[in-house]
Amino acid sequence: MNILILGSGGREHALAWAIKQNPKTDRLIVAPGNAGIAGLAEVADIDILDGASVVEFCEGNAIDFLVIGPEAPLAAGVADAARAAGILTFGPSQAAAQLEASKAFTKEVCDACGAPTAAWARFTEAAPARAYVTAQGAPIVIKADGLAAGKGVVVAMTLGEALAAIDDMFGGSLGAAGAEVVIEEFMGGEEASFFILTDGTSALPVGTAQDHKRVFDGDQGPNTGGMGAYSPAPVLTEAIQAQVLAEIVMPTIAEMARRGTPYQGVLYAGLMIEKGRARLVEYNARFGDPETQVLMMRLGGQALDLLLACAEGTLDQARVNWADDHALTVVMAARGYPGAYQKGSVIHGLKRVPEDSRHMVFHAGTAEKEGRIVANGGRVLNVTARGASLEEARNRAYAMIDHLDWPEGFCRSDIGWRALKG
Ligand code: ATP
Repeated sequence: MNILILGSGGREHALAWAIKQNPKTDRLIVAPGNAGIAGLAEVADIDILDGASVVEFCEGNAIDFLVIGPEAPLAAGVADAARAAGILTFGPSQAAAQLEASKAFTKEVCDACGAPTAAWARFTEAAPARAYVTAQGAPIVIKADGLAAGKGVVVAMTLGEALAAIDDMFGGSLGAAGAEVVIEEFMGGEEASFFILTDGTSALPVGTAQDHKRVFDGDQGPNTGGMGAYSPAPVLTEAIQAQVLAEIVMPTIAEMARRGTPYQGVLYAGLMIEKGRARLVEYNARFGDPETQVLMMRLGGQALDLLLACAEGTLDQARVNWADDHALTVVMAARGYPGAYQKGSVIHGLKRVPEDSRHMVFHAGTAEKEGRIVANGGRVLNVTARGASLEEARNRAYAMIDHLDWPEGFCRSDIGWRALKG
């Protein structure tokens, strides 16, 4: 079959790498793709936020299956346009993608179905929001309602920070995303991610992972899009996964169907685990980045069958063949990230890094220039390995990095510390 993946990051490189291994795949195209993806699939330059352009491309290229990677095309309704044109599509409708695109919407769904999450309130003006946090006290969490690329959340440890965040958001610092503000109870505990495929009725877990948001070792420095991840996440025990499915995921799926907006795609549940119980922090309507890199490393070619079952509504008959393995990815970023950084530095040594079913360098912000791979973004490479234990996966990933010669880049040296410390 001919498959089109939308997106250009490490997530899409990992999806393409896994899908390519499935014998069902004939032609594989990624739009817009990146320099690493171009090594294993065709790349095409189309406007992925425009449903009509995506449909036209699919029809012109006999695409049998469309896989939407990032949240922006989902929020723009690209899945709706593709389905309306009769194209088999993986990814939720615009209405269902509200689970990621609006924090207030997600909180309403949680309240309606009884899913455990932080207590909350919503505001459209600064004065009542200020009065509310003053009454509640700190720590407290201030969130812009809309999509803000991870920059719309302030975990305020003092009342002063909370009030400043409210003034900032209503002052327009995040544009339309901050026109409404959600204020939440602060939840303590350990964070982990759980990925569940759903066709609107059935649910199939496809792995757990833990990310590393802070830029420096020891979880220091500013937040980033993610500096590394590993799977599985030991904190999400079988018992907690069962609790999450029963109390959070299945009720959400039922509530979305009841509203007439069934959710089809991957439901990425961000969870806070405390005292053996999980509460929902957020949903994302797509696979995580860099978590997908470790999930795909573990799933391999069967990922395509699972995504197809999800899109075709046959998930109740699908199952995951789990190997008892672990995967870990280390993000290499351009120096200065998440602040200002330079583009264009040459990454040497990529050809020396082994690439096979246990080792892969997934590209994020890279480009090809005069036959060489250069950095073209903040997060640039995802050096990913699989092993019989997390320690083995970690050692393999860092051994891969030793082959690289890229003085303008850096990475954390402690990815996996939380799971490895015990
Ligand atoms: P991203 O997509 O980058 O994860 P986001 O902008 O969608 O972020 P959230 O995931 O809702 O926002 O929040 C970002 C982070 O803030 C969470 O990963 C978590 O660490 C912290 N956080 C959010 N809500 C709470 C809460 N109620 N209590 C404690 N920490 C929280």
